[in-house]
Amino acid sequence: MSTESTFFDGGCTCRFVRYRMTTRPLFVHCCHCRWCQRETGASFALNALIEADRVQMLQGEVEVINTPSNSGKGQKISRCPKCRIAVWSNYAGAGDAIRFIRVGTLDEPDHLPPDIHIYTASKQPWVSLPPDMPAVAEYYRASEKWPKESLERRAVIMARSQKR
Ligand SMILES: [Zn+2]
Ligand SMILES: [Zn+2]
Repeated sequence: MSTESTFFDGGCTCRFVRYRMTTRPLFVHCCHCRWCQRETGASFALNALIEADRVQMLQGEVEVINTPSNSGKGQKISRCPKCRIAVWSNYAGAGDAIRFIRVGTLDEPDHLPPDIHIYTASKQPWVSLPPDMPAVAEYYRASEKWPKESLERRAVIMARSQKR
């Protein structure tokens, strides 16, 4: 599963928007915060974090909606302009360089299970996590949890954003 030639296609419900993740993501969050619960209408959100330049539009375009967020700094949610399904978000912390792809919009979401559960302080009580699963009450430091390869990829993005 570590081959970089792997790609993952996804899109919205009406199929106007089609996109491709050209590699595996940096990390996958299962977020149990109340904001994600409200935005999904369910119990958690599953987000695959990946560099923006590793996401290709295959078809259509997205409409970016500025939306309030838990941090107070807002998030930009990219939605299909026709059916309004959200395909990814960008948060203030990581900026435009990292997209949080909504794993449920992938054609084969089963390939990207969570690497960590976050904001478990507000996890709905019926959701039980496997005992060996990384989980934090709120957020975490990437330097402590991400695999070495993902940290190296992140360092490339950070170096690039400092040059601007
Ligand atoms: Zn659509
Ligand atoms: Zn959340």
